Amino acid sequence: MISFEKAIEIIRANTIVLDSESVRLEESLNRVLRQDVVSDVDMPPFDKAAMDGYACRLQDIENVLDVIEVIAAGYRPQRAIGNNQCSKIMTGAMLPAGADCVIMVEEVEEIAEKKIRFRGRRAAANICRKGEDVVVGQRLAPSGTRITAKEIAALALAGCVRPTVCRKPRVGIIATGDEIVEPRFIPEQSQIRNSNSCQLHAQCQQFGCEPSDYGIVRDTRDEIGGMIARAKEESDLILVTGGVSMGDFDLVPSLLKESGFTIHFEKVAIQPGKPTVFGQAGNKYVFGLPGNPVSSFLVFEVLVKEFLSSAMGLKSYARLAKCPLATTFKRRTSARQAWIPVRMTAEGSAEPVEYHGSAHITSLACADGFISVPVGVDGIPAGSIVDVRQI
Ligand code: AMP
Ligand code: MG
Repeated sequence: MISFEKAIEIIRANTIVLDSESVRLEESLNRVLRQDVVSDVDMPPFDKAAMDGYACRLQDIENVLDVIEVIAAGYRPQRAIGNNQCSKIMTGAMLPAGADCVIMVEEVEEIAEKKIRFRGRRAAANICRKGEDVVVGQRLAPSGTRITAKEIAALALAGCVRPTVCRKPRVGIIATGDEIVEPRFIPEQSQIRNSNSCQLHAQCQQFGCEPSDYGIVRDTRDEIGGMIARAKEESDLILVTGGVSMGDFDLVPSLLKESGFTIHFEKVAIQPGKPTVFGQAGNKYVFGLPGNPVSSFLVFEVLVKEFLSSAMGLKSYARLAKCPLATTFKRRTSARQAWIPVRMTAEGSAEPVEYHGSAHITSLACADGFISVPVGVDGIPAGSIVDVRQI
């Protein structure tokens, strides 16, 4: 059995990076950038009015001002501001030469046609300066960033309409088990519904992969072996759930070897998820995940995501929040690194949710994240600062 850290090291050392492709900006959501996005413009591109009002000289604002022009956004001012002059200006319009402030329209009185007076108490500049947000050549998003809704505008600003991104990893999902039936069926007494396939499908989609569901296979060498061979042809990564432990019908590890996979590890000191298998055949990879739903969910979060990030060139993905633990946590054994589902309370602390073990899938629906408990630690006192890994 290897440590969690060793498993991560092995995954990183053996992952081949996927190719890049260029996609339309509109289709780039959730993809991983493979280029630095650099601005070809200053923002703002010119000194601009931050308010609707009158552009004038600060030194004149006690006086009656002549309105010499109306400047709409998108047009170049035609006239420079001289002594006791102003131009009516709209938010986002270019500041005319000679002006050093914009007085707000709400604080101005029109005393005659094209004559105004400032009625406010104190004038602010109300000008956004050229290049104050972004300058030409500034890197707005580095290679290795995931493009989310908050990055899209920066790409548009920089004119990056066809970003170079990593192609989507193709992930084939296979569920094994004679007791497993598709969720649309009413299970007979000895059966349970397949929750792993759709859960992993969703996790893959959320992480920017292209998942394919290969359904459920019975615990026979032919069925499992046949489906692994098919999925291997069509995928970059195969996720097989179930059949990886020590039972008489846990055939997956030996069948993976027969299908040409070299097994890099097949036991990790984590809880849940101990019998996790990681294998490789050239540029094809496989994870054998324990069948219990919390195990498959968690192993995807902590190990499969590590593989996918390396393959996609994603720099960071785990979102951690530090907060105090609401109640004391205790465990009987401490030989493995454990992950405990917690929810965030309104007071900002992490509270372990009701959790009966790796089969207790509904516990995750109440959880906001996991805390990890290192090897050798059998308890964490209430009030200790913990890292919550958000899900
Ligand atoms: P296994 O890893 O095959 O020994 O399965 C461990 C436990 O997980 C058993 O109770 C299985 O019934 C359950 N299980 C296996 N596959 C799935 C699945 N696809 N969906 C839900 N539970 C599963
Ligand atoms: Mg099984």
